Amino acid sequence: MLHNLHPQPADKILMLMAEYRADPRSDKIDLGVGVYKDATGNTPVMRAVKEAERRILADQTTKAYTGLAGDPAFGTAIRDLVLGDSVAADRVACVATPGGTGAIRQALELIRMATPEATIWLSNPTWPNHPSIIKYLGMKMAEYRYFDNATRGVDFDGLMADLDALKAGDVVLLHGCCHNPTGANLTSDQMAQVIALMQDRGAVPFVDIAYQGFGDGLEADAQITRQIAAAFDNCLIAASCSKNFGIYRERTGALMAIAKDADQQALAQQNLAFLNRQNYSFPPDHGARVVTTILTDPALRAEWEAELEETRLSMLGLRQQLADELKRLTNSDRFDFLAHHRGMFSRLGATPEQVAAMRADNGIYMVGDSRFNVAGLNAQSVPVLAQAIVTAGI
Ligand code: PMP
Repeated sequence: MLHNLHPQPADKILMLMAEYRADPRSDKIDLGVGVYKDATGNTPVMRAVKEAERRILADQTTKAYTGLAGDPAFGTAIRDLVLGDSVAADRVACVATPGGTGAIRQALELIRMATPEATIWLSNPTWPNHPSIIKYLGMKMAEYRYFDNATRGVDFDGLMADLDALKAGDVVLLHGCCHNPTGANLTSDQMAQVIALMQDRGAVPFVDIAYQGFGDGLEADAQITRQIAAAFDNCLIAASCSKNFGIYRERTGALMAIAKDADQQALAQQNLAFLNRQNYSFPPDHGARVVTTILTDPALRAEWEAELEETRLSMLGLRQQLADELKRLTNSDRFDFLAHHRGMFSRLGATPEQVAAMRADNGIYMVGDSRFNVAGLNAQSVPVLAQAIVTAGI
């Protein structure tokens, strides 16, 4: 049987991590993998998470199954965090999933069950796992322009021109905040135009929000998602708790399906629970319980929000330092986009050759498309990166 298998394409980012580990240089800089790192290069367990885990360890009396949708208290907590009061609670179907990736996978399966002919529209570029899963599921996909390599901002005219081809029932995947891999984001006014176009064509929005709290703050980062959720009868939202709670390996996320009314919500809820049952039965509980414990305890929540804010501000500080350093070195403001981008990533707009040169000459590891993880930097390595960018002729 197993001899029939073919090798699968290797994950580029995981390959880069292996290359980095094998590099003997002591001054190498890892700007590849998408985890937050503090100034010492550590990915810490957040203070509120440690305390929530301590409480769970002390108080939990059973490990019996929860429900197919996960603990309902988690569903309520994550719905409030992401959606606020933008839609009535009785319109939101919600299931816990293994991470944001699990939510994306379940969303795509739900789309395939409901509208198998739908085309899924992805930004070019997007997180590579989006097209990978869609292809694996045998669904149709198309791309819309997103990144303008000249300005390193959003190519809004290109985006609108491409989405002009939307057909009724097509699904448009949008990043809720902190676009991965570019760091460039739509303004609320631009999103209003995208919403009007999607409404006109009868398209359905699918929001992937994996970095709430990493851009402009917890509430500000939810704004686009809420704007979309409030504007449509139907909308899918995949939320990840991996980054903003720092619980990557616990696999914590949720899929929300916004329905037209309470009857449709019940149907969607039942289908989401069915999908969980088919794929893994009960979703993981520990990370979800940590999140619920934090979000429902005012003191713990304040502690979490404070640490998340420290994390966000440290990334913004590094962005500003890098933009300032490049301004000094180049005597121009052409790298100011680095301070305007939001989230953990920015796309530099360098060629693969320039990326390879920085790796070979300076031990600076970033993804081949010139996406780099801002959190991989610290005050000492920012000038090193800035100089390497100038030397590589970017
Ligand atoms: N969406 C995007 C855009 C991401 O960058 C990520 C994480 N890299 C995810 C979803 C999923 O994250 P996870 O499955 O680890 O929660």
